[in-house]
Amino acid sequence: MNPQLQVLIALQDILLMIREAKDPTQTKALGKMGFKMTNVESLENTRENLENQLSPAILREYSRVTKRHGRIVAPVIRGTCHACFVRIPSAIDAADDRNKTLYRCENCGMYLYWVDK
Ligand SMILES: [Zn+2]
Repeated sequence: MNPQLQVLIALQDILLMIREAKDPTQTKALGKMGFKMTNVESLENTRENLENQLSPAILREYSRVTKRHGRIVAPVIRGTCHACFVRIPSAIDAADDRNKTLYRCENCGMYLYWVDK
């Protein structure tokens, strides 16, 4: 898999974890269940670390897309982008280098990864 794509997928997970850790209703519920609060600071450190691994051009796009959509990558399942549910052009969906090259959804701008086949 494209290393930048791997970083983007990891970043999306971290962003979600940070959001949950900062959500007061979530942390209250987790506290009640006996879970320890997630250390937001260490999550932020991981996020920074991952962002530093992105090329400057991708980092710019990442900032833009996450600001607008709150996420950065979307899975393609049966030829459909699962962020906006628009079909991916079949030439891209059938390409040999999917997951090796960074492709973006032409409709929503999300970076795409394929989970089938
Ligand atoms: Zn899309």
